[in-house]
Amino acid sequence: MELNEFTQKVEEVLIRHKSILDIMTKLQETDARTTRAVAKAVTECGCISIKASKQQLSTEVDYSELDKFTSNHIDGELCPRCKEQLVHEIGDHIFYISALCNTLNLSPGDILSKKHDEITTLGKFSLF
Ligand SMILES: [Zn+2]
Repeated sequence: MELNEFTQKVEEVLIRHKSILDIMTKLQETDARTTRAVAKAVTECGCISIKASKQQLSTEVDYSELDKFTSNHIDGELCPRCKEQLVHEIGDHIFYISALCNTLNLSPGDILSKKHDEITTLGKFSLF
């Protein structure tokens, strides 16, 4: 599915939560629900676990090589049920991001394109 088609569909179906206040608070809610789904995959299901510790970043390693020395701190893989839940929650979040863009007359496609250009140009240095 093309992004513009998705964004247009969001505009068509968003009736009940059309206010910018509803959209902003729904964005917070869907963000929290996404985080909660990850937490439940750890604490209720157990298909993944989080084993976090300080990243061992050496000043002797070039920044472009640091990804080889860092970890996402996740052990395991999402089971099909947890994966389905996360797909649902992230989908809801993307829905309200699109709604926010529509309401403020911003183009998600332009935003993605601009970000793509930025990370392509700056590479691993783009997220400082
Ligand atoms: Zn699971």
